[in-house]
Amino acid sequence: MITRKLFLHFPKCETEKPIVYQLVKDYNLIINIFRAKVTANEEGYLVLDVTGEEADIERGMEFVKSFRVTIDTVNKGVRWDAARCTHCGNCLSHCPTQALRLRDRDRREVEFVESACIECLNCLDNCPFGACSSAF
Ligand code: SF4
Ligand code: SF4
Repeated sequence: MITRKLFLHFPKCETEKPIVYQLVKDYNLIINIFRAKVTANEEGYLVLDVTGEEADIERGMEFVKSFRVTIDTVNKGVRWDAARCTHCGNCLSHCPTQALRLRDRDRREVEFVESACIECLNCLDNCPFGACSSAF
């Protein structure tokens, strides 16, 4: 069993289809949704973990793509801009999973470990320098 974190973008016409339900039922996947949004113009965004056999995940993702859903495995809903980060440390106590953490305690260097981020958005309100942002 493996787990993959994915960022899906649904075009307007596909937001009402029960795609996640079918991933569970037909592809034996365990789904953990971190964050979802349907915009005013009815586009959809979804950040989730999928857990299952690698072959089932691959088949499930082919099924998702057949609905013209875009899957981004690299960029997720929360982004950290290393160039904006001043390593002030203000976010560290607000991040519940230590996705934002000290890489080097002596040099007080902060890093962002995307795989640990649960998309709670706490850091957006607690970064004075706008280093953390949301894709949606
Ligand atoms: S969104 Fe939440 S979990 Fe992710 S880095 Fe920001 S504070 Fe941490
Ligand atoms: S609060 Fe912002 S600038 Fe300060 S360490 Fe965290 S991400 Fe970097």
